Amino acid sequence: MTESLITVSYIAAAILFILSLGGLSSQETARRGNLYGILGMAIALVATAATPGVTGYAMLAGAIIPGVLIGGFLAQRVAMTAMPELVAILHSFVGLAAVLVGFASYLGPQDASMTAVEVTIHEVEIFIGVFVGAITFTGSVIAFAKLRGSIGGKPFIIPARHAINAGMVIGSVVLGYMFLDAGHATTDGGNPGGLMPLLIMTGIACVLGVHMVMAIGGADMPVVVSMLNSYSGWAAAAAGFMLSNDLLIITGALVGSSGAILSYIMCAAMNRSFISVILGGFGSDGGAPSGPAKVVEGEAVPTDVEKVVADMKAAKSLIIIPGYGMAVAQAQHSLSEVVKILRKELKKNVRFGIHPVAGRLPGHMNVLLAEANVPYDIVLEMDELNDDFPDTDLVLVIGANDIVNPSALDDPNSPIAGMPVLECWKSTKTVVMKRSMGTGYAGVQNPLFFKDNTEMLFGDAKKNVDAMLAEIRK
Ligand code: NDP
Repeated sequence: MTESLITVSYIAAAILFILSLGGLSSQETARRGNLYGILGMAIALVATAATPGVTGYAMLAGAIIPGVLIGGFLAQRVAMTAMPELVAILHSFVGLAAVLVGFASYLGPQDASMTAVEVTIHEVEIFIGVFVGAITFTGSVIAFAKLRGSIGGKPFIIPARHAINAGMVIGSVVLGYMFLDAGHATTDGGNPGGLMPLLIMTGIACVLGVHMVMAIGGADMPVVVSMLNSYSGWAAAAAGFMLSNDLLIITGALVGSSGAILSYIMCAAMNRSFISVILGGFGSDGGAPSGPAKVVEGEAVPTDVEKVVADMKAAKSLIIIPGYGMAVAQAQHSLSEVVKILRKELKKNVRFGIHPVAGRLPGHMNVLLAEANVPYDIVLEMDELNDDFPDTDLVLVIGANDIVNPSALDDPNSPIAGMPVLECWKSTKTVVMKRSMGTGYAGVQNPLFFKDNTEMLFGDAKKNVDAMLAEIRK
């Protein structure tokens, strides 16, 4: 391919990526947005492979073909609920790639036409790229392990951790100075004098990544995943600079900035400070608990499917709050049928209340409900209906827990203190559908279950919704 054709292809791919992001901003256009992204990536791959100077096609095929097969296989098999883990591990690959590209750029032959200033700029790119890449790599591996449950959700807080983090950053800056001072690996007769500072900094950045994510508590993980998404974008952009690949710079910047915007939106939705997230371990400082969380005690009142259906028939207005358990049980299709009957035949006012971090990935519930053909106009965000609970007769909480936990508002010592929640207990009656009295992802007891106007419908959400469907059809 000629240079100009490659440039045109890169511009086309960049435009498709922007259209893709635009498309993903609403449910109606998300499918189209995905197609744009796939097309843009296909163009980017072909154009990059066809760049003059790329000759090792056998090696390229040896990397790409297994990569495509493994990626396709994993994406086919992954359950919707395991998606955040997959995303986290993919972020770690981007970080690792940036580290490897950085080392290869440093140790590889240097372009003889570069001026001294250009060499310094290139080395700054290498150093920053490896730093961001290493943090992203280990941070994402820890996020992956936390999301899988291999590492507990409790924040791991060590004394003076901010001072330790600051020390690691200052140490890296000093190493950066030593690295730049040592010059490029191959200018000095092949003596890579900067390799040692680069290696030490990589080690420090790896520890920093682990430390930052270990300090994050369970309920705050969604923001961390989107933060790491943003970091992976900046790591990719840094790799683009190192490789002088404009498209990689643009793509990295798009991922980096959109991830940062998503993190900002999530922070605002969860009442967390953006700066504390970037520094790691937010939600565990500032509002640090001054004592133990309140003990949650009481007796939960169990109910059964017949009674719940009778309550539904008696109610005029209902709100359904879905959570992670609905996704696990795959109860959305039967639920959609129940809602159809309630609205069309029984003329009830039924709406869904969606918390920004319900489930295990941003927009998780919206995707499931759209898949089950629930009309978009009855699916409302938390802020849109939190004031409506006092006028609501019945709330059905289906497999949700943390997002309806009143201790987030009532107990300043709760690990989820300050997080806005769906205030369903203000309605006339709440029915919580779950299998046991167990806690949710954040591992926090839920006083909602013991409120006077709450009843528990125990069992698998799909089985219970199926039974409700059969009962309501009688
Ligand atoms: P939770 O994890 O708080 O609660 C889900 C509940 O579903 C559990 O208590 C469980 O109780 C119940 N459940 C599980 N399986 C079933 C089943 N088959 N049938 C019925 N119930 C079931 O989920 P929420 O959606 O309320 O909150 C999301 C949590 O995940 C938040 O803490 C959030 O911060 C975190 N998170 C969110 C991410 C995101 O991007 N959205 C990413 C990472 C974390 P039982 O075992 O008794 O059935």
